[in-house]
Amino acid sequence: MSKSLQAIRGMNDILPEQTPLWRYFEATVARLLDNYGYKQIRMPIVEFTELFKRSIGEVTDIVEKEMYTFEDRNGDSLTLRPEGTAACVRAVLEHGITGGGQTQKLWYIGPMFRHERPQKGRYRQFHQIGCEVFNLDGPDIDAELIVLTWRLWGQLGIRDAVKLELNSLGTSESRGRYREALVEFLSAHLDKLDEDSQRRLKTNPLRVLDTKNADTQAVLVDAPKMADYLDDESRTHFEGLKARLDAAGIPYVINPKLVRGLDYYSKTVFEWVTDKLGAQGTVCAGGRYDGLVEQMGGKPTTGVGFAMGIERLILLLETLEQIPEEISRQVDVYLCAFGEAAELAALTLSEKVRDQLPNLRLQINAGAGSFKSQFKKADKSGALYALILGDDELAQQVVGFKPLRGQGEQQSIAFDALAAHLATCIVQG
Ligand code: ATP
Ligand code: MG
Repeated sequence: MSKSLQAIRGMNDILPEQTPLWRYFEATVARLLDNYGYKQIRMPIVEFTELFKRSIGEVTDIVEKEMYTFEDRNGDSLTLRPEGTAACVRAVLEHGITGGGQTQKLWYIGPMFRHERPQKGRYRQFHQIGCEVFNLDGPDIDAELIVLTWRLWGQLGIRDAVKLELNSLGTSESRGRYREALVEFLSAHLDKLDEDSQRRLKTNPLRVLDTKNADTQAVLVDAPKMADYLDDESRTHFEGLKARLDAAGIPYVINPKLVRGLDYYSKTVFEWVTDKLGAQGTVCAGGRYDGLVEQMGGKPTTGVGFAMGIERLILLLETLEQIPEEISRQVDVYLCAFGEAAELAALTLSEKVRDQLPNLRLQINAGAGSFKSQFKKADKSGALYALILGDDELAQQVVGFKPLRGQGEQQSIAFDALAAHLATCIVQG
């Protein structure tokens, strides 16, 4: 196929064989968030470029090199959203729903776009589910976000494969003092830093901490520690969070080098990581961003949130073979009809059954076909039962009812009794 008729590199189709697992995953998360009292918000996929520059930060990887930015027909600079927090903050401000200190516990789902090097677990269009909470400033809500993801991992059967890493970046004041100390230290060792870190030292010095370069890592061993620069407020907050995680029995490790890529974090930052997916091991990441709303022109409003990468979590479910059996079966009953008259009767009968059993997954054969070919399709559909309607059955106003998975003999069921009979055989969702 010519290249212009192929999907863009790093932007994937999610094929019919994959969507059941996606829908199971999305439904599981949505139900959980409902149960914790979070409300869904839906934002546009495109925003003014300025929004992301202002919120994410000019010198982050995302803004420097990963954004899909273009001019629209009016000459406005627009960007496909690389993440959800900026648009969410924009939306709550625009609609005034965090005004007067109103609390909001929100979640969103959808595609995000980053121009990165595509590889397993890293794509140019990928999907996130995220939460953002506004106007709750205690560690209790930080803990709730972590507790609910922990419950999710339990429901999905992947708890043993993920590990929680935690750090505190402190308030912007303590972070500022730490940054100064770090810059002073690193400047004294400038010649031993890799090129990227030398550049970051000037633009975004905290990011030097998560360098992959071994020489720079060696220098960092003696660098000042963030924990020593936390002020009382940050320290108390962090202790409060840890106490709650301990009470909830959630294991964690403190990772002093965890700084996150985005500019806007303060106090709590965390990541759920797995060693089962190779280099792309972070499946969920988040933190507190108490200064962001104000930085974007709103009244002081605290915020905390996270985003999880759906592709990586789907990969993890597949890797761990945590795929629930019920999602592999999409059809309960397959109705075969032979001849024009039987087809008409099959249509009215199936619609009547659907009236009575709205959750029944009933597939009616389309495209006619011999007994053998329809039966083959019935079997391939994964249905538990086939219904058979030919001229003989029509004359007697019955259907043949045949178990396809070896539970008993074929029997005849009167049209009128069909719905009631199916209701006894099939557990409906
Ligand atoms: P990474 O360090 O892997 O690049 P990040 O810090 O850029 O991640 P965030 O911006 O915090 O990621 O996004 C939250 C989550 O979204 C990540 O933990 C990951 O699961 C997922 N994610 C981020 N970028 C991608 C991508 N390009 N493809 C697939 N999933 C992604
Ligand atoms: Mg990234």
